[in-house]
Amino acid sequence: MSDWVDRDERSIWHPFTPLKGMDQPLVIDRAEGVNLYTQSGKKIIDAISSWWVNIHGHSHPKLAEAIAQQAHQLEHVIFAGFTHKPAIELAERLLQILPDNQAKVFYSDNGSTAVEVAIKMAFQYFYNQGIEKKKIIAIDGAYHGDTFGAMSVGERGPFTDPFDPYLFDVEFIDFPSPEKEADVWQHFESLVAKGDVAAFVFEPVIQGASGMRVYSKSLLDRMINLAQSQDIICIADEVMTGFGRTGGLFASDLLDHKPDVFCLSKGLTGGALAMGVTTCTDKIQEAYRSNDLMKTFFHGHSFTGNPMTCAVANASLDLLLTDECELNRQRINDRHREFESELNEHQLVRNTRVLGTIIAFELNTERDTSYFNEARHHLYPYFIDKGILIRPLGNVIYLIPPYIISDEDLSFIYTSILNFLNEYPSLIKNQKL
Ligand SMILES: *Cc1c(COP(=O)(O)O)cnc(C)c1O
Repeated sequence: MSDWVDRDERSIWHPFTPLKGMDQPLVIDRAEGVNLYTQSGKKIIDAISSWWVNIHGHSHPKLAEAIAQQAHQLEHVIFAGFTHKPAIELAERLLQILPDNQAKVFYSDNGSTAVEVAIKMAFQYFYNQGIEKKKIIAIDGAYHGDTFGAMSVGERGPFTDPFDPYLFDVEFIDFPSPEKEADVWQHFESLVAKGDVAAFVFEPVIQGASGMRVYSKSLLDRMINLAQSQDIICIADEVMTGFGRTGGLFASDLLDHKPDVFCLSKGLTGGALAMGVTTCTDKIQEAYRSNDLMKTFFHGHSFTGNPMTCAVANASLDLLLTDECELNRQRINDRHREFESELNEHQLVRNTRVLGTIIAFELNTERDTSYFNEARHHLYPYFIDKGILIRPLGNVIYLIPPYIISDEDLSFIYTSILNFLNEYPSLIKNQKL
């Protein structure tokens, strides 16, 4: 056991990690492409893009170069009263690839703040016009981040229980699984009809943290259409789905009716530096364009629009918008689909789904799908031992790899999963799981 692990244990509080009873963290010394290398030299394939952020592989030379160059020229400057070329260029490029209705870019620090900004922007849009609309509609199972506003519009459960008294009221509609679509639509219609709804927040087409759950894009399209007809601001949380994850550049590209607000983060910088972006339509910014200073959007962070972060996001866009990247995403999708049909043969597997570069399935464990499901705690070390980073959500196993992952690495991961499924009954019997 290394001295570093002891020092970590004495000084660091890790995210989503109990302070007692957890396995010791692995010390990672370096990473390249899809591979992480531990202090002792063990290679681990990052099959989840390090919490879904790393789209072009680790320590990418082009991204490293962009950060280094920018650091030498202008590392940071206050973003009120000042601006700089990397931020302007990035905003223009984002507006170019987002749906045509997007008009303004607001920078922040991560996915949660991108959602906070979106919610505040929506509330103040009505406030500035003297319109009383205070409700938000969100979808059961949603995850929008860990700050208070983001928690309020997300799934309520064990993770949010301690904070429940402090979360604002939100109308939740059921997750629109196929058998519930009609009911969900009816409920949505009745909520909209009340006339007091300010915003509808959703992860378009696929919910991430609730277990990579895919739902009907045509239903979502109808909901957005209805909401927009009643001046309800539709907020697409594309923090996970943005930047090619679901095949096209954004999940909302699959929709006919385009959301009013977009929240972006994760893949935005290729996973190199933290950044959040909230974009909105012309109509929304018009409600803030006034000689009345009190109509200003009073929100900002110390590192808003950091030049190094903007520079690396620009470099990441350069990589994302190449034919090579698009072909890689298509290739991963093809491979996932082949693997999906193999998985479907297996009796321990249910509810397989593939969307773009994401594949997910449920282990038929007869147990529930909650995060606290035992399966997770055993699956994780099993795959780490095989040299693969997979972090199941309850009994949902999913892959969300960097787009540069090779066919060989994909085959190795698929085979390891099939081996696991075949060994599963005896692992259970011998209490190895
Ligand atoms: C991860 C995630 C967030 C939160 O982003 P952070 O950068 O972790 O704060 C918000 N929404 C979705 C859909 C996410 O997947």
